[in-house]
Amino acid sequence: MLPKYADIIIDISHEAIDRTFQYKVPEHLNGCIGIGTQVSIPFGRGNHLRSGYIVGFSDNPLFDEEKIKEIDSVKEGGVAANSELIAMAAYIKEQYGSTMSNALKTVMPIKEKVKGLINRQIRLVIPIDEVEEKLVIYQKKNAKAKYRLLSELVEESILPYNLVVGKLNISTATLTAMKKEGVIAIEEETYYRDVLPSDYDGIEGKQLGVVPNEEQQAVISRIVTDYQDGNRGTYLLKGVTGSGKTLVYIEVIKKIVEMGKQAIVLIPEIALTYQTVKRFRHCFGNKVTIMNSRLSKGERYDQFEKAKRGEVSVMIGPRSALFTPFPNLGIIVMDEEHEATYKSDYPPKYHAREVAIWRAKQCNACVLLGSATPSVESYYHAIKGEYQLLELTKRANENAKMADVQIVDLREELKSGNRSIFSNYLKEKIGDRLNAGQQTMLFINRRGYAGFISCRSCGHVFKCPHCDVSLTEHFKGTTKEKLVCHYCGYETVNPKLCPECGSPFIAGFGIGTQKVEEMVKKEFPAARVLRMDMDTTKQKDAHEKILSAFANGEADILVGTQMIVKGHDFSNVTLVGMIAADLTLFDNDYKSGERTFDLLTQAAGRAGRGSLPGEVVIQTYNPEHYCIQTAAKQDYQSFYMEEKAYRSMLKYPPFCHVLAVFMEHENYEVLVNCCNKLKGQFDIWNQQLEQKVMVIGPCDATITKVNDKYRRVIYLKQVDYEKLVWMKNQTEQWNETNEQFKQIRMTFDFDPMHSY
Ligand code: ADP
Ligand code: ZN
Ligand code: ZN
Repeated sequence: MLPKYADIIIDISHEAIDRTFQYKVPEHLNGCIGIGTQVSIPFGRGNHLRSGYIVGFSDNPLFDEEKIKEIDSVKEGGVAANSELIAMAAYIKEQYGSTMSNALKTVMPIKEKVKGLINRQIRLVIPIDEVEEKLVIYQKKNAKAKYRLLSELVEESILPYNLVVGKLNISTATLTAMKKEGVIAIEEETYYRDVLPSDYDGIEGKQLGVVPNEEQQAVISRIVTDYQDGNRGTYLLKGVTGSGKTLVYIEVIKKIVEMGKQAIVLIPEIALTYQTVKRFRHCFGNKVTIMNSRLSKGERYDQFEKAKRGEVSVMIGPRSALFTPFPNLGIIVMDEEHEATYKSDYPPKYHAREVAIWRAKQCNACVLLGSATPSVESYYHAIKGEYQLLELTKRANENAKMADVQIVDLREELKSGNRSIFSNYLKEKIGDRLNAGQQTMLFINRRGYAGFISCRSCGHVFKCPHCDVSLTEHFKGTTKEKLVCHYCGYETVNPKLCPECGSPFIAGFGIGTQKVEEMVKKEFPAARVLRMDMDTTKQKDAHEKILSAFANGEADILVGTQMIVKGHDFSNVTLVGMIAADLTLFDNDYKSGERTFDLLTQAAGRAGRGSLPGEVVIQTYNPEHYCIQTAAKQDYQSFYMEEKAYRSMLKYPPFCHVLAVFMEHENYEVLVNCCNKLKGQFDIWNQQLEQKVMVIGPCDATITKVNDKYRRVIYLKQVDYEKLVWMKNQTEQWNETNEQFKQIRMTFDFDPMHSY
């Protein structure tokens, strides 16, 4: 029986209408609607048609039945959000704070149907023994085009439409005529856009014929046995760099797919798609596909459809691939689970790991997290037994030994008069590699000419007029091209003279990838250098091009940002140099130590992947810092112990949860005023709690202004996450009822990955 009323979420991202509205379900929609259907409904005084999603049904009116409006129609071309996705959106909204509409947008990357691609072909429909007769007729009538097509169709009874109208030069009028005569049929079939080049199939893969070693097999059996026994859990696979975690993922997924289930494989960034897909293709062929923001709308829609129908079994992609609408999800794998990219940087600021675990629970799937350097949070959960800890302690390739690591104290270099960005030690090592025909990777955790630019005479710093940050120099070749703001995109020509004192001595400080590339070319003029960073990888296939060029030995040295340290597997790289390891160490947030340790360990893991031994050189101004010491020894355990002590003392995750309430407004006075009011409210709400929430601030954000908007932040801390959710809910209600707060842009960030 048809329910009388539907609860609908209006598709406008505005908090004031971020609730469900009740509508009547008209008779004629019987049978065509369900939870998740996108519908058109009259809304507001003007009854303009808006779109919305049905999120529930009921038989009782919530208010005067006369006043309840009727659903207009099912939205043409709308994609139904299935109820699992709606539940996920509701969970995300509650846990991370955002509008329901934004939460729905997050879980549904595609909202509109995109027309399928059409493959047209011409088919011969008369029996072959009638063809001769027909040809004679065409000849008599001098119907040359018809004759031409028919004689081709005798050879091959189906021809591609494009070939017929193109190469054979048959007009559409002729085709229509022959169709009328009943000689041919014009057939159309829709097909999915393929997003993986077909040459993936032919690639000779490293994984081909590789048998898991003992350690790998133990891990695989453990997960598969649990799965077969009906035990579902979250596993943390801690495996040193090069231990062969990917093979474990593949073998586990193979078993689970054999049971008729599907798998989602999350990777930290799009740049890693190519190499991951390559390995999975060998095992799963065209049952693997990818989903990411670089695909066109149509491509994404098609992958979404294939997944929904279970026509593919493995989906590989970044964070958002988590929302793949598989009908029978069996496992979610999260590679490099410690990566910050798994946290969304716009609202709702959800963490894919937490949402993955939640989704898996809903559909009885398991979760496999993998990393050489697990996040402190995950490792803590594993130690406590909430996740199951599995380990790979050896490199899979028996010849590949862990690299030898040297720390170079840059302060000593400076004392001895070396002002170059390369220590003498590193310079010597690079030279050795060039002579031996081996490759080097140089890593710097900045892009462009990071740092700031200032006047050497008066100290004036060139800042963005819209943001409270200094501008960055960008170069074209070796000539200074412009100054750019990395926050808002503002650009200005490179100044010749200081606007304050007129001095011509203007210079950039700090180093970036461009500068390193330039210095390498100066020091080693014969070396072939490639650079990989945000600026060189803007085009669609740029990542793959640079990486495969390097893999093919087209360059001796690859200079790059953190992009080059993840996952790539180059057997001829025997030296990895870290230009300045401390650049990320003092970012002034609780994650900066962990981030530095991860980057250094992962980067060190790039060296010596093949049979040649590897060396790593870490240049630093802080050689005694525990993050650098433990990373040099590739000693996760010691790092974890130090980091744990620090976090528990200062009450940071995983020992305490943090909620950043971040606020922006053009007018500083208004902003300060609102922040103080909200702080007052927190104190009032706190009185209702037995265990108080710690309130820190309000204070200015580290960057006080971006895009002409001032920024302030209040931090809340509590051991119990739910108390923070409660504070967030109180705040949301408060915002709705206070006019002044409606102008403030407020975002919630639970357990933020960086400071504000
Ligand atoms: P990780 O992701 O753990 O750093 P990878 O999955 O990239 O490691 O594997 C490192 C290398 O070891 C790859 O070249 C892979 O093909 C190879 N490898 C993995 N497992 C085996 C195995 N059982 N025998 C031989 N080589 C293996
Ligand atoms: Zn000056
Ligand atoms: Zn700016």
